[in-house]
Amino acid sequence: MIIEMRPDSTLADLGRVISFVENLGFTPRPHHGAERTVIGVMDAAEPDLAPVAELAGVARISPLQSKGKLVSRDFRTEPTVVKVGRLRIGGPRFVVMAGPCAVESEEQLLATAKAVVSSGGHVLRGGAYKPRTSPYSFQGLKEEGLRLLALAREKTDLPIITEVVAPDLVPLVSRYADILQIGARNMQNYALLEAVGKARTPVMLKRGLMSTIDELLLAAEYIMSNGNEQVLLCERGIRTFETATRNTLDISAVPVLHERTHLPIIVDPSHAAGLVQYVPAMALAAAAAGADGIIIETHPDPAKALSDGPQALTFPMLNDLMKQLGTIAAAVGKPLVT
Ligand code: PEP
Ligand code: MN
Repeated sequence: MIIEMRPDSTLADLGRVISFVENLGFTPRPHHGAERTVIGVMDAAEPDLAPVAELAGVARISPLQSKGKLVSRDFRTEPTVVKVGRLRIGGPRFVVMAGPCAVESEEQLLATAKAVVSSGGHVLRGGAYKPRTSPYSFQGLKEEGLRLLALAREKTDLPIITEVVAPDLVPLVSRYADILQIGARNMQNYALLEAVGKARTPVMLKRGLMSTIDELLLAAEYIMSNGNEQVLLCERGIRTFETATRNTLDISAVPVLHERTHLPIIVDPSHAAGLVQYVPAMALAAAAAGADGIIIETHPDPAKALSDGPQALTFPMLNDLMKQLGTIAAAVGKPLVT
Protein backbone atom coordinates (compact mmCIF):
# COMPACT_ATOMS: atom_id res chain seq x y z
CA MET A 1 0.00 0.00 0.00
CA ILE A 2 1.02 3.60 -0.55
CA ILE A 3 0.09 6.35 1.91
CA GLU A 4 0.32 9.73 0.22
CA MET A 5 0.69 12.79 2.43
CA ARG A 6 -0.99 16.12 1.61
CA PRO A 7 1.32 18.87 0.31
CA ASP A 8 0.46 20.98 3.42
CA SER A 9 1.07 18.14 5.90
CA THR A 10 3.60 18.72 8.67
CA LEU A 11 6.51 16.63 9.92
CA ALA A 12 4.45 15.98 13.05
CA ASP A 13 1.65 14.56 10.85
CA LEU A 14 4.18 12.32 9.14
CA GLY A 15 5.57 11.16 12.49
CA ARG A 16 2.08 10.25 13.71
CA VAL A 17 1.31 8.26 10.57
CA ILE A 18 4.63 6.39 10.88
CA SER A 19 3.99 5.51 14.54
CA PHE A 20 0.42 4.47 13.73
CA VAL A 21 1.64 2.08 11.02
CA GLU A 22 4.35 0.69 13.30
CA ASN A 23 1.81 0.11 16.06
CA LEU A 24 -0.24 -1.96 13.62
CA GLY A 25 2.86 -4.19 13.29
CA PHE A 26 3.90 -3.07 9.77
CA THR A 27 7.09 -1.46 8.45
CA PRO A 28 6.61 2.06 7.05
CA ARG A 29 9.09 3.20 4.37
CA PRO A 30 8.82 6.97 3.97
CA HIS A 31 10.07 8.60 0.80
CA HIS A 32 10.33 12.36 0.37
CA GLY A 33 9.97 13.08 -3.34
CA ALA A 34 10.24 16.41 -5.10
CA GLU A 35 6.48 16.52 -5.56
CA ARG A 36 5.11 14.58 -2.60
CA THR A 37 5.91 12.55 0.45
CA VAL A 38 4.71 8.95 0.40
CA ILE A 39 4.99 6.09 2.84
CA GLY A 40 5.24 2.63 1.35
CA VAL A 41 3.89 -0.19 3.51
CA MET A 42 4.83 -3.34 1.65
CA ASP A 43 3.56 -5.81 4.22
CA ALA A 44 -0.01 -4.53 4.64
CA ALA A 45 -3.25 -4.94 2.69
CA GLU A 46 -5.90 -2.26 2.19
CA PRO A 47 -8.29 -3.13 5.05
CA ASP A 48 -5.41 -3.12 7.54
CA LEU A 49 -4.56 0.49 6.77
CA ALA A 50 -8.07 1.91 6.28
CA PRO A 51 -7.96 3.87 9.61
CA VAL A 52 -4.80 5.68 8.43
CA ALA A 53 -6.86 7.61 5.87
CA GLU A 54 -8.52 9.46 8.78
CA LEU A 55 -5.23 10.78 10.24
CA ALA A 56 -4.25 14.43 9.86
CA GLY A 57 -2.12 15.19 6.79
CA VAL A 58 -3.01 12.02 4.85
CA ALA A 59 -4.19 12.69 1.28
CA ARG A 60 -5.05 9.10 0.32
CA ILE A 61 -4.04 5.50 0.60
CA SER A 62 -3.92 3.31 -2.48
CA PRO A 63 -2.69 -0.12 -3.51
CA LEU A 64 0.58 -0.36 -5.44
CA GLN A 65 0.01 -1.05 -9.12
CA SER A 66 3.11 -3.06 -9.88
CA LYS A 67 4.49 -6.25 -8.35
CA GLY A 68 7.75 -4.64 -7.32
CA LYS A 69 7.20 -2.01 -4.68
CA LEU A 70 10.36 0.01 -4.06
CA VAL A 71 11.19 -0.17 -7.79
CA SER A 72 7.78 1.10 -8.79
CA ARG A 73 6.81 4.49 -10.23
CA ASP A 74 3.80 4.46 -7.88
CA PHE A 75 6.21 4.67 -4.98
CA ARG A 76 8.62 7.17 -6.46
CA THR A 77 7.46 9.28 -9.37
CA GLU A 78 10.69 11.14 -10.10
CA PRO A 79 13.58 9.27 -11.78
CA THR A 80 16.32 7.80 -9.61
CA VAL A 81 19.67 9.32 -10.46
CA VAL A 82 22.55 6.96 -9.69
CA LYS A 83 25.69 8.78 -8.55
CA VAL A 84 29.07 7.42 -9.54
CA GLY A 85 31.66 9.97 -8.44
CA ARG A 86 30.90 13.08 -10.50
CA LEU A 87 28.91 11.08 -13.06
CA ARG A 88 25.11 10.98 -12.93
CA ILE A 89 23.21 8.09 -14.54
CA GLY A 90 19.48 8.48 -15.05
CA GLY A 91 19.62 12.28 -15.16
CA PRO A 92 19.20 14.48 -18.22
CA ARG A 93 22.25 13.08 -20.04
CA PHE A 94 23.10 9.84 -21.85
CA VAL A 95 25.96 7.72 -20.50
CA VAL A 96 28.28 5.40 -22.44
CA MET A 97 30.09 2.54 -20.69
CA ALA A 98 32.59 0.75 -22.90
CA GLY A 99 35.43 -1.71 -22.64
CA PRO A 100 36.42 -5.28 -23.24
CA CYS A 101 34.26 -8.25 -22.35
CA ALA A 102 37.11 -9.54 -20.18
CA VAL A 103 40.21 -7.92 -18.72
CA GLU A 104 43.03 -9.84 -20.42
CA SER A 105 46.24 -7.92 -19.73
CA GLU A 106 47.54 -4.53 -18.62
CA GLU A 107 48.37 -3.61 -22.19
CA GLN A 108 44.93 -4.56 -23.52
CA LEU A 109 43.06 -2.79 -20.73
CA LEU A 110 45.06 0.45 -20.73
CA ALA A 111 44.86 0.71 -24.51
CA THR A 112 41.10 0.24 -24.31
CA ALA A 113 40.69 2.72 -21.45
CA LYS A 114 42.55 5.36 -23.49
CA ALA A 115 40.34 4.66 -26.52
CA VAL A 116 37.22 4.99 -24.37
CA VAL A 117 38.40 8.38 -23.11
CA SER A 118 39.41 9.66 -26.53
CA SER A 119 36.12 8.65 -28.12
CA GLY A 120 34.17 10.39 -25.31
CA GLY A 121 33.00 7.40 -23.22
CA HIS A 122 32.23 7.81 -19.52
CA VAL A 123 32.72 4.46 -17.74
CA LEU A 124 35.18 1.62 -18.36
CA ARG A 125 33.71 -1.89 -18.38
CA GLY A 126 35.72 -5.10 -18.09
CA GLY A 127 35.04 -8.52 -16.61
CA ALA A 128 37.51 -9.91 -14.08
CA TYR A 129 35.23 -12.82 -13.12
CA LYS A 130 33.62 -14.25 -16.24
CA PRO A 131 30.58 -16.52 -16.01
CA ARG A 132 31.16 -18.57 -19.18
CA THR A 133 28.74 -21.03 -20.75
CA SER A 134 31.55 -23.59 -21.01
CA PRO A 135 33.78 -24.45 -18.01
CA TYR A 136 36.70 -24.77 -20.46
CA SER A 137 36.42 -21.14 -21.65
CA PHE A 138 38.58 -18.33 -20.18
CA GLN A 139 37.17 -17.57 -16.71
CA GLY A 140 38.81 -14.18 -16.20
CA LEU A 141 41.91 -12.89 -14.39
CA LYS A 142 39.93 -12.60 -11.14
CA GLU A 143 41.60 -10.37 -8.49
CA GLU A 144 44.47 -9.51 -10.85
CA GLY A 145 41.79 -8.27 -13.28
CA LEU A 146 40.34 -6.05 -10.53
CA ARG A 147 43.81 -4.62 -9.86
CA LEU A 148 44.22 -3.81 -13.55
CA LEU A 149 40.82 -2.09 -13.61
CA ALA A 150 41.88 0.04 -10.64
CA LEU A 151 45.11 0.90 -12.47
CA ALA A 152 43.14 1.94 -15.57
CA ARG A 153 40.92 4.14 -13.41
CA GLU A 154 43.97 5.74 -11.85
CA LYS A 155 45.43 6.52 -15.27
CA THR A 156 42.25 7.77 -16.96
CA ASP A 157 39.87 8.84 -14.19
CA LEU A 158 37.15 6.65 -15.70
CA PRO A 159 34.90 4.93 -13.14
CA ILE A 160 34.81 1.15 -13.56
CA ILE A 161 32.02 -1.39 -13.80
CA THR A 162 32.77 -5.07 -13.33
CA GLU A 163 30.80 -8.22 -12.66
CA VAL A 164 30.48 -9.96 -9.31
CA VAL A 165 29.50 -13.61 -9.60
CA ALA A 166 29.14 -14.86 -6.03
CA PRO A 167 27.97 -13.46 -2.67
CA ASP A 168 31.31 -14.08 -0.94
CA LEU A 169 33.09 -11.99 -3.61
CA VAL A 170 30.94 -8.89 -3.01
CA PRO A 171 33.26 -7.32 -0.37
CA LEU A 172 36.34 -7.85 -2.57
CA VAL A 173 34.80 -6.63 -5.84
CA SER A 174 33.21 -3.63 -4.06
CA ARG A 175 36.66 -2.50 -2.91
CA TYR A 176 37.62 -2.00 -6.58
CA ALA A 177 34.42 -1.36 -8.53
CA ASP A 178 32.48 1.87 -8.88
CA ILE A 179 29.50 -0.11 -10.19
CA LEU A 180 28.86 -3.81 -9.50
CA GLN A 181 27.45 -5.73 -12.45
CA ILE A 182 25.06 -8.64 -11.92
CA GLY A 183 25.18 -10.76 -15.06
CA ALA A 184 22.19 -12.12 -16.93
CA ARG A 185 22.85 -15.65 -15.66
CA ASN A 186 22.70 -14.42 -12.08
CA MET A 187 19.60 -12.24 -12.29
CA GLN A 188 17.71 -14.68 -10.09
CA ASN A 189 20.60 -15.62 -7.80
CA TYR A 190 18.80 -14.30 -4.75
CA ALA A 191 21.71 -14.79 -2.33
CA LEU A 192 23.83 -12.62 -4.65
CA LEU A 193 21.07 -10.01 -4.99
CA GLU A 194 20.82 -9.81 -1.20
CA ALA A 195 24.58 -9.48 -0.87
CA VAL A 196 24.81 -6.56 -3.34
CA GLY A 197 21.69 -5.11 -1.69
CA LYS A 198 23.68 -4.85 1.53
CA ALA A 199 26.63 -3.22 -0.25
CA ARG A 200 26.83 0.53 -0.74
CA THR A 201 28.20 0.41 -4.30
CA PRO A 202 25.77 1.10 -7.17
CA VAL A 203 24.60 -2.05 -8.97
CA MET A 204 23.73 -2.69 -12.61
CA LEU A 205 21.33 -5.64 -12.84
CA LYS A 206 21.19 -7.36 -16.24
CA ARG A 207 17.99 -8.96 -17.45
CA GLY A 208 18.11 -12.76 -17.52
CA LEU A 209 18.17 -14.53 -20.88
CA MET A 210 14.71 -15.95 -20.27
CA SER A 211 13.28 -13.41 -17.85
CA THR A 212 10.24 -11.21 -18.17
CA ILE A 213 10.19 -7.53 -17.32
CA ASP A 214 8.24 -8.31 -14.12
CA GLU A 215 10.90 -10.81 -13.08
CA LEU A 216 13.62 -8.23 -13.73
CA LEU A 217 11.77 -5.70 -11.58
CA LEU A 218 11.30 -8.20 -8.76
CA ALA A 219 15.01 -9.06 -8.90
CA ALA A 220 15.77 -5.33 -8.54
CA GLU A 221 13.32 -5.28 -5.63
CA TYR A 222 15.56 -7.79 -3.81
CA ILE A 223 18.48 -5.39 -4.09
CA MET A 224 16.48 -2.34 -3.03
CA SER A 225 14.68 -4.06 -0.17
CA ASN A 226 18.07 -4.99 1.26
CA GLY A 227 18.97 -1.31 1.43
CA ASN A 228 20.79 -0.46 -1.81
CA GLU A 229 18.71 1.99 -3.84
CA GLN A 230 21.41 2.82 -6.40
CA VAL A 231 20.29 0.33 -9.02
CA LEU A 232 20.53 0.42 -12.84
CA LEU A 233 18.56 -2.01 -14.99
CA CYS A 234 20.09 -3.41 -18.17
CA GLU A 235 18.30 -4.84 -21.19
CA ARG A 236 20.84 -7.13 -22.89
CA GLY A 237 18.69 -9.18 -25.25
CA ILE A 238 16.51 -12.18 -24.54
CA ARG A 239 16.44 -15.66 -26.03
CA THR A 240 13.86 -16.09 -28.77
CA PHE A 241 13.40 -18.45 -31.73
CA GLU A 242 15.55 -16.11 -33.85
CA THR A 243 19.08 -17.34 -34.48
CA ALA A 244 20.39 -14.63 -36.81
CA THR A 245 21.50 -12.67 -33.76
CA ARG A 246 22.91 -14.00 -30.47
CA ASN A 247 19.82 -12.77 -28.60
CA THR A 248 16.93 -10.53 -29.52
CA LEU A 249 17.20 -6.96 -28.23
CA ASP A 250 13.87 -6.17 -26.59
CA ILE A 251 13.92 -2.47 -27.37
CA SER A 252 10.35 -2.19 -26.11
CA ALA A 253 11.72 -2.94 -22.64
CA VAL A 254 13.03 0.64 -22.59
CA PRO A 255 9.68 2.49 -22.68
CA VAL A 256 7.93 -0.26 -20.69
CA LEU A 257 10.52 -0.06 -17.91
CA HIS A 258 10.49 3.73 -17.92
CA GLU A 259 6.74 3.59 -17.38
CA ARG A 260 6.93 1.06 -14.55
CA THR A 261 10.04 2.07 -12.67
CA HIS A 262 12.00 5.15 -11.67
CA LEU A 263 15.31 3.28 -12.06
CA PRO A 264 17.66 4.19 -14.95
CA ILE A 265 17.64 1.90 -18.00
CA ILE A 266 20.87 0.86 -19.73
CA VAL A 267 20.96 -1.12 -22.99
CA ASP A 268 23.70 -3.61 -23.89
CA PRO A 269 23.66 -3.85 -27.69
CA SER A 270 26.75 -6.11 -27.73
CA HIS A 271 25.33 -9.19 -25.98
CA ALA A 272 21.97 -8.60 -27.66
CA ALA A 273 23.31 -8.60 -31.23
CA GLY A 274 26.36 -10.82 -30.71
CA LEU A 275 27.80 -9.77 -34.06
CA VAL A 276 29.72 -6.55 -34.46
CA GLN A 277 28.05 -5.45 -37.68
CA TYR A 278 24.66 -5.15 -35.91
CA VAL A 279 25.87 -3.50 -32.71
CA PRO A 280 25.96 0.19 -33.80
CA ALA A 281 22.37 0.13 -35.09
CA MET A 282 21.18 -1.40 -31.80
CA ALA A 283 23.13 1.21 -29.81
CA LEU A 284 21.51 4.05 -31.78
CA ALA A 285 18.08 2.44 -31.36
CA ALA A 286 18.65 2.40 -27.58
CA ALA A 287 19.36 6.12 -27.55
CA ALA A 288 16.38 6.81 -29.82
CA ALA A 289 14.10 4.77 -27.53
CA GLY A 290 15.04 6.91 -24.53
CA ALA A 291 17.51 4.69 -22.67
CA ASP A 292 19.66 6.39 -20.04
CA GLY A 293 22.82 4.88 -21.47
CA ILE A 294 24.50 1.90 -23.10
CA ILE A 295 27.18 -0.60 -22.15
CA ILE A 296 29.19 -1.76 -25.12
CA GLU A 297 32.15 -4.08 -25.79
CA THR A 298 35.29 -2.89 -27.54
CA HIS A 299 38.72 -4.50 -27.92
CA PRO A 300 42.07 -3.45 -29.44
CA ASP A 301 42.11 -6.60 -31.59
CA PRO A 302 38.71 -8.33 -31.58
CA ALA A 303 39.99 -11.34 -33.53
CA LYS A 304 42.34 -12.15 -30.63
CA ALA A 305 39.85 -11.47 -27.81
CA LEU A 306 39.62 -14.21 -25.17
CA SER A 307 35.85 -13.77 -24.95
CA ASP A 308 33.09 -12.26 -27.09
CA GLY A 309 35.44 -11.16 -29.89
CA PRO A 310 32.76 -11.43 -32.62
CA GLN A 311 30.71 -8.68 -30.97
CA ALA A 312 33.54 -6.30 -30.01
CA LEU A 313 33.86 -2.96 -31.78
CA THR A 314 37.30 -1.86 -32.91
CA PHE A 315 38.40 1.53 -31.56
CA PRO A 316 37.67 3.37 -34.85
CA MET A 317 34.18 1.81 -34.87
CA LEU A 318 33.61 3.02 -31.30
CA ASN A 319 34.75 6.47 -32.29
CA ASP A 320 32.36 6.62 -35.24
CA LEU A 321 29.50 5.28 -33.15
CA MET A 322 30.04 7.94 -30.46
CA LYS A 323 29.60 10.69 -33.06
CA GLN A 324 26.33 9.19 -34.31
CA LEU A 325 25.14 8.62 -30.76
CA GLY A 326 25.78 12.27 -30.01
CA THR A 327 23.40 13.25 -32.81
CA ILE A 328 20.63 10.81 -31.88
CA ALA A 329 20.88 11.41 -28.14
CA ALA A 330 20.65 15.17 -28.64
CA ALA A 331 17.72 14.76 -31.05
CA VAL A 332 15.68 12.94 -28.40
CA GLY A 333 16.54 15.48 -25.71
CA LYS A 334 19.13 13.45 -23.77
CA PRO A 335 22.51 14.63 -25.00
CA LEU A 336 25.67 12.70 -24.12
CA VAL A 337 27.39 13.48 -20.84
CA THR A 338 30.19 15.89 -21.66
C1 PEP B 1 29.14 -9.36 -19.96
O1 PEP B 1 28.71 -8.23 -19.73
O2 PEP B 1 30.30 -9.58 -20.42
C2 PEP B 1 28.24 -10.51 -19.77
C3 PEP B 1 28.70 -11.71 -19.42
O3 PEP B 1 26.96 -10.19 -20.03
P1 PEP B 1 25.60 -11.03 -19.76
O4 PEP B 1 25.58 -11.33 -18.30
O5 PEP B 1 24.54 -10.06 -20.18
O6 PEP B 1 25.65 -12.25 -20.63
MN1 MN C 1 30.80 -10.26 -22.92
